[in-house]
Amino acid sequence: MAKKRVVLTFPPELTEKPITYHLVKDFDLAINILRAKITPGEEGKLVLELSNGSEEMIKKGLDFLVQQGVGVEAVSKEISFTDEDCIHCGACTAVCQPGALQINPDTGRLRFEKERCIVCELCVPACPLGIIKVLF
Ligand code: SF4
Ligand code: SF4
Repeated sequence: MAKKRVVLTFPPELTEKPITYHLVKDFDLAINILRAKITPGEEGKLVLELSNGSEEMIKKGLDFLVQQGVGVEAVSKEISFTDEDCIHCGACTAVCQPGALQINPDTGRLRFEKERCIVCELCVPACPLGIIKVLF
């Protein structure tokens, strides 16, 4: 299964159009909305994970978005921290809405599930030790 995470920027005139619906209907893409901030009449942002059996269909779907005037940016950054430096205080887990950072109840240690991370960077200032970094 091919997957791609992208940040979509919708100009104000497109925020009320059912564009993501076409991704499902016309390109057979499965869509997982990781983050959304869309207000009708204002610029909107969506972080999506698109999946399909074929990378070609994902590419066609993204080409369609660009043709419609939607800004498309791959999520290319990633979060990193040094496990040995972590004191497992859990402060970063409080701001991680997708649940990528969690304290394992069995071990009391911080667990990072990269595939859930939407690189919102909220955990970076939340860590009192400053050990969470954004890699480009
Ligand atoms: S950047 Fe940090 S807070 Fe945001 S989703 Fe990823 S791990 Fe969670
Ligand atoms: S806030 Fe920093 S020290 Fe605390 S659990 Fe998260 S990464 Fe570890």
